[in-house]
Amino acid sequence: MAYDFDLFVIGAGSGGVRAARFAAGYGARVAIAESRYLGGTCVNVGCVPKKLLVYGAHFAEDFEQARGFGWSLDEAGFDWPSLIANKNREIQRLNGIYRNLLVNSGVTLLEGHAKLVDPHTVEVAGQRCTARHILVATGGWPQIPEVPGRELAISSNEAFFLEQLPKRVLVVGGGYIAVEFASIFHGLGAQTSLLYRGELFLRGFDDAVRHHLRDELGKKGLNLQFNSDIARIDKQADGSLLATLKDGRHLETDCVFYATGRRPMLDNLGLENTGVELDSRGFIKVDDQFQTSEPSILALGDVIGRVQLTPVALAEGMAVSRRLFKPEEYRPVDYDHIPTAVFSLPNIGTVGLTEQEARSRGHKVRVFESRFRPMKLTLTENQERTLMKLVVDAESDRVLGCHMVGPEAGEIVQGLAVALKAGATKRIFDETIGVHPTAAEEFVTMRTPVGA
Ligand code: FAD
Ligand code: NDP
Repeated sequence: MAYDFDLFVIGAGSGGVRAARFAAGYGARVAIAESRYLGGTCVNVGCVPKKLLVYGAHFAEDFEQARGFGWSLDEAGFDWPSLIANKNREIQRLNGIYRNLLVNSGVTLLEGHAKLVDPHTVEVAGQRCTARHILVATGGWPQIPEVPGRELAISSNEAFFLEQLPKRVLVVGGGYIAVEFASIFHGLGAQTSLLYRGELFLRGFDDAVRHHLRDELGKKGLNLQFNSDIARIDKQADGSLLATLKDGRHLETDCVFYATGRRPMLDNLGLENTGVELDSRGFIKVDDQFQTSEPSILALGDVIGRVQLTPVALAEGMAVSRRLFKPEEYRPVDYDHIPTAVFSLPNIGTVGLTEQEARSRGHKVRVFESRFRPMKLTLTENQERTLMKLVVDAESDRVLGCHMVGPEAGEIVQGLAVALKAGATKRIFDETIGVHPTAAEEFVTMRTPVGA
């Protein structure tokens, strides 16, 4: 059968755009459909605007610290609408870049909601197209639990477009988004509380990192409430919100922000017209080559629920386009050693195994830790401390994990990820000459294992 396209991609986010562009570059006839915004979550309501808000929030501390270096500043003022307007302008610019990237690489762009009609046919705004392969890259969507009054709460989608900075914010959740937005709101001057249902937030990160960040955020005045969860939310006569907690306590606030995970975006996608199956968590089930249970349909990125990070969706997009159209260059995605950062203030940067994971996998470990006050703060009142930690396999000497809480942790950990992927041992770290004076040099100067 002659198809209109070799590949039809649904969703022009991180993974979809990457797969479409590379497939077109390999000579395939490619179409991509996008219903909402070019660039997807990351560009519009994710990584990029989030990082801009984090930069904005850090200025509060920068102004404070400047005094220690002899600068005298008038009372600093902050205007949320200006930050949001400038952020929106930048995102619009990026949307344009994504449009050009697609069009210039020869991809046919269809703007509208795409629905699967059968395993080889997609309908967008009444127009039907056929394709040999269809790639579902529709991403995810915030998930708010079924608590009474949930319609009064916002998610990250709305947070980026609030008209005013709320005076008081209650952030619910203990993952990446909760911790990052609690830092943003707090840094920009809102009275911020973070409510997490468990003992300690950031489940899955190294315990030392979780404790260290808890202490640092607490020192900055962020109100952390663990073992706490909301039972209901009510609007009060004066317009403020009243959150009733499961333990009976009441908290008054102006904004309840839920960051309790993301579900796959499958709304009105027409999966029922195909043989695509979901896994037990409701994400699209794929094999290790991103093949769904319907032979002509592939899926990648957040909608398959493996690792919900932009660089992972990009790597999966590359793998899919190579597998289909340049098989001689196909390489499977390596899910080991994925570095990641949480852009809280201070940042977390991490790559490889946590100490707890290493031990549970049977490694005998040596652990190295360094805790110090960053040099930049020594002329200031700021008492923030940095944590760096290495987890080393005692038998092979291989470094299994690097973890950091401190300024620019994400930037520092990227280079360490290369070393870990190359199989670096602790001896290689030790023989590497540091860059002085930096915080990063601590990673090559830790000599005595914890407890030795
Ligand atoms: P998406 O980027 O979500 O793209 C999916 C696209 O499909 C969307 O544009 C959507 O509109 C479109 N779509 C959906 N259904 C249809 C349909 N039926 N028809 C047509 N189009 C459709 N990751 C990082 O690595 N670093 C970060 O700092 C980071 N920060 C984040 C902050 C926030 C607040 C959030 C929410 C996420 C963040 N992420 C971050 C995660 C990252 O954004 C995602 O992992 C990444 O965007 C996933 O890419 P994707 O291609 O799978 O999906
Ligand atoms: P996460 O999965 O990271 O965290 C969800 C949090 O919500 C967890 O603390 C979880 O608790 C809690 N939770 C889940 N369900 C409920 C519930 N019903 N009631 C109360 N609490 C609940 O999701 P996020 O929404 O923070 O982010 C989604 C993903 O986006 C991240 O996992 C990450 O992959 C990506 N992202 C990456 C960023 C980065 O790279 N810097 C930044 C932002 C997002 P528990 O642990 O107890 O299950």
